[in-house]
Amino acid sequence: MPSTVAAIVAPSATDRLTVSTIERRDVGPHDVLIDIRWAGICHSDIHTIKGDWGPQQYPLTVGHEIAGVVAEVGSEVTKHRVGDRVGVGCLVNSCGECANCTAGSEQYCLNGAIGTYGAKDVDGTITQGGYSTSVVVTEDFVLRLPEEIPFEKAAPLLCAGITTYSPLRHWNAGPGTRVAVVGLGGLGHMAVKLAHAMGAEVTVLTRTLAKKDDAIALGADRAFATNDPETFRELRGAFDLIINTVSAPIDVDAHLKLLALDGTLVNVGAPAEPLSLHVGTLIGGRRSFAGSNIGGIAETQEMLDFCAEHGISPEVEIVSASEVNEAWDRVLASDVRYRFVIDASTIAG
Ligand code: NAP
Ligand code: ZN
Repeated sequence: MPSTVAAIVAPSATDRLTVSTIERRDVGPHDVLIDIRWAGICHSDIHTIKGDWGPQQYPLTVGHEIAGVVAEVGSEVTKHRVGDRVGVGCLVNSCGECANCTAGSEQYCLNGAIGTYGAKDVDGTITQGGYSTSVVVTEDFVLRLPEEIPFEKAAPLLCAGITTYSPLRHWNAGPGTRVAVVGLGGLGHMAVKLAHAMGAEVTVLTRTLAKKDDAIALGADRAFATNDPETFRELRGAFDLIINTVSAPIDVDAHLKLLALDGTLVNVGAPAEPLSLHVGTLIGGRRSFAGSNIGGIAETQEMLDFCAEHGISPEVEIVSASEVNEAWDRVLASDVRYRFVIDASTIAG
């Protein structure tokens, strides 16, 4: 018998979120039942509910930054024990057999990885996310949360953390690399902390200088305003790697011109609208325009361990279930410093 659990639910693309209930499946032999304690709010949750990336099946519970405690394990589970502090990110399953899965890149599963919400699960139901009091996940997609990471700050690492860690590692951010982070929100502030910890020189490109002091405090060496045309003249050719975290379209050509020879602009921001660029901007500096999607499971564990080792955790503002609509409004207004985290104990059934 599936269990009915309390959750924050979006009734439609436009209705306000409301507390209701959802169903969770029985704990199977390879499953872990997690009591959710903390759930991060990602801009992707909002894009999804608004239908920015395509139609959804409502009502839907979103949330793919989950931190909780193992409450029950299936008979075959070996990786997690009752009482462990664990996390779940954007993925809850994948085929496990294709070339990408076997290479540890489950997020690029050739048969379609199963997202934590809004995806068709193996039993045909639609997955429901972390704005809830519990979740059942197959053990391979459950991460271990190191003790060094404060529990209430751990959840955003499961998406904002890994989504920025993965491209920084893939494009070899480190000592001697000049990294720019575009947009200082949930992902952007993690990109700054991680790139700084990896030893890169970090520049923040933000619309105005309102967050300049924050950028420096987070570990950036400098910050520039993208609403000032002078920024694009002064920084021409200045970066090896640019991580674009902006949730809306940017002027791609203008940002590409900030790359040095062979530099790469990696898009992790995922606006609803298509982006355009002039191929000449790529050709003119052997530049690359790339994208990156979250990270694999092993890489997510590596990121968590890296954060524990380097004392890195996100800046969070804790909200209760009754404040989630307001928190979404504030994310849309870029009034987030720098990730909202829902206290799941406030989600009453
Ligand atoms: P967020 O907290 O809202 O941050 C986005 C930042 O973008 C804002 O803080 C703001 O920075 C800037 N921005 C917002 N609107 C803008 C506009 N109209 N023009 C220019 N800049 C603007 O969002 P997030 O949770 O970090 O997510 C960022 C994006 O990444 C979203 O599109 C999300 O869906 C996507 N995402 C992708 C992945 C992936 O795997 N690729 C994973 C998670 C999220 P400033 O105020 O500093 O300018
Ligand atoms: Zn996310």
